Amino acid sequence: MALLITHKCINCDMCEPECPNQAISMGDEIYQIDSDRCTECVGHYDKPTCQSVCPIDNTIIVDALHTETNEQLWDKFVLLHHAAQL
Ligand code: SF4
Ligand code: SF4
Repeated sequence: MALLITHKCINCDMCEPECPNQAISMGDEIYQIDSDRCTECVGHYDKPTCQSVCPIDNTIIVDALHTETNEQLWDKFVLLHHAAQL
């Protein structure tokens, strides 16, 4: 599952530079996560690092509209990593 930033976000800028997949960017009002780039940090960290650094509890949650298996997340990681090397 990709993750989702809710409106509890206070735009503190902590998560964006920590994402290993450049999946986080500033949206119209708050930061947003590109579900095509979010691997839940699979391939990089044991748990989602954006959730770890976010100072507001339950601001970054799982995106129920983008459910993926662990295998699919690994496939996404490989594709992103491979594309970065082209
Ligand atoms: S879970 Fe990881 S890959 Fe997904 S947005 Fe957060 S830091 Fe980026
Ligand atoms: S760390 Fe949390 S509060 Fe800060 S910009 Fe990211 S989602 Fe928003």
